[in-house]
Amino acid sequence: MPSEPSVRPDDGAEEEFLARFARSDGPTEWYSPVPPGYRKGRTKFVAVIGTVMSGLGKGIFSSSLAKLIQDKGLLVTPLKMEGYLNIDSGTLNPYRHGEVFVLDDGLETDMDLGTYERILDQDLSRRNYLTAGQIYTEVLERERRGGYLGRDVQMIPHVTGAVKLKLRELAVNGIGDGRPADVVFVEVGGTAGDYENGFYIEALRELAFEEGPESTCFVALTYILEPSILGEQKSKAAQLGIKRLMEAGVQPQIVACRAKNPVTTTVMEKISMFSNVPMRRIFSMHDRESIYTIPDAMRQGGLDREILSILDLHDRVDQANEDRARVRWSEFSARLAAPRPRRITLAITGKYASLRDAYASIDKAVEHCGIQLGAEVDVRWLETSEIRSSRDAEVALEGAQAIIVPGGFGTRGIEGKILCVEHARTRGIPFLGICLGFQVAVIEFARHVLGLEKAHSTEFDPRTPHPVISELPEQKKLEGIMGGTMRLGGQDVDLEPGSLVSFLYGGRSRVRERFRHRYEVEPRFIEQIQAAGLRFTGRHPSQPIMQAFELPAAMHPSFVGTQFHPELTSRPLSPQPLFMGLLSAALAQANPGVDPGPAARRFLRPHAVAVGGVRG
Ligand code: GLN
Repeated sequence: MPSEPSVRPDDGAEEEFLARFARSDGPTEWYSPVPPGYRKGRTKFVAVIGTVMSGLGKGIFSSSLAKLIQDKGLLVTPLKMEGYLNIDSGTLNPYRHGEVFVLDDGLETDMDLGTYERILDQDLSRRNYLTAGQIYTEVLERERRGGYLGRDVQMIPHVTGAVKLKLRELAVNGIGDGRPADVVFVEVGGTAGDYENGFYIEALRELAFEEGPESTCFVALTYILEPSILGEQKSKAAQLGIKRLMEAGVQPQIVACRAKNPVTTTVMEKISMFSNVPMRRIFSMHDRESIYTIPDAMRQGGLDREILSILDLHDRVDQANEDRARVRWSEFSARLAAPRPRRITLAITGKYASLRDAYASIDKAVEHCGIQLGAEVDVRWLETSEIRSSRDAEVALEGAQAIIVPGGFGTRGIEGKILCVEHARTRGIPFLGICLGFQVAVIEFARHVLGLEKAHSTEFDPRTPHPVISELPEQKKLEGIMGGTMRLGGQDVDLEPGSLVSFLYGGRSRVRERFRHRYEVEPRFIEQIQAAGLRFTGRHPSQPIMQAFELPAAMHPSFVGTQFHPELTSRPLSPQPLFMGLLSAALAQANPGVDPGPAARRFLRPHAVAVGGVRG
């Protein structure tokens, strides 16, 4: 037998443990490389695996669970395992798969990583995201280098070995500050029984065996059907789903039941009976009004306690840390539940039904600000391909108190977006242009204020006589390579002292924000644009890349654009300052003479009074 349950890293058996699993040649069948510095038993693993169906909110569940353990002062870090063969999410269509979330280190991931960053209030890295494409590429490249020493390369043990290595590397690296993780939270994409994720589940089964008892906790997230024709909950699909997991050799220690309504005792008893999971470890995760109430609901149900017991982690809990974290969260929950007397109508250019997931982080950033401001933000999504004239824009934006033109690719709706920016600029409506929205606003300004009628981005009109937006120099060399080649990830932005953006960021002169673009303001137009009033107040520390603009207070109360994506760094407890600025300005302007509240006052420049805007 490979691993004696009693083996502990500190009793001298660790080297034997490492040697036994790490071989890829010789007589042994084992292949399970372990990274340098790995200490068996130091890091525990929680694996959340879906059954019955996808779309149960596995990411929200896993991140809320991880937060509960993080609140106790333990170092947690998540790993999302994707079954698809793409190397990253960069080439995925956001209208099909939801937003492409960009990490600070530049990896393009799926929107779940955004959920983890927001709920854990923690920056993640490429170590937190794994796709089948990455694993297979690594294994195949290693094979070409002769890395398997004459062995035939197999799904088991080599592919699963590569997955376990990733898990243990993440365990050693934790959040990248030199400390190993206490708990790695693994979310397996898809559901048990899928073809694509089978090797992940197998790798986790092997990991649990190698690491020994109290090392790994498997959570089956399942779904309880409640057909309206029956009017009662049925457990059979959940039972079959969990059985599927057990057939793969995985015995869940916890079952979390997603359901519309609280799960009945009868249903829980059936699940307990069929799955060998005691009743106290079966939890009802029924629909709630807000995802932010999930951590508290989990704690009340005792889910955190059970995890600590299963993983023998009670000794690592820092009670004072948990008390502090709970106070902060309950203040947030109180604001969330409190009545919100203020109202703001925010127009976002993007069609709601198909774009909500495509702009998930914007949706969240707006939500964070609304909670902070005590304001109900009524978001109106606009399809701009139907906006063809200033009159159309006026009709579409009737009643809008703030306008966001978000990021995007492709020509569709561009002229409509330009008309929306013009409306915001000339009517003095608080405006935030993000990435493509930033570029579109520069085009609008060049056309209508500078009089460069045909001004455009070379992305949309390669032959424009006034290419105010053009390809970044490094991008011009990259023809034909799509994946991971944009200007990606966190970069420093130098803010002009005294500018609105610097004020909104609390007077800071340098911030770090995340980018994802191929095009930029063409440097030779910068002077001309600035001379006409649009000031580039956020710049790259050394290169001529324009990263934020604004109109001076005398021209517009709040007209800001950013080449970066501020929405990616908004967190529930610390809403993104530029979004706060936008919505605070909208509140103040919509209700002249009325106190917009303490949160908004912090984001309103004392001398910035609402004026009528500037005409081109
Ligand atoms: N299409 C633009 C560019 O590549 C904007 C990208 C974006 O909005 N993320 O620069």
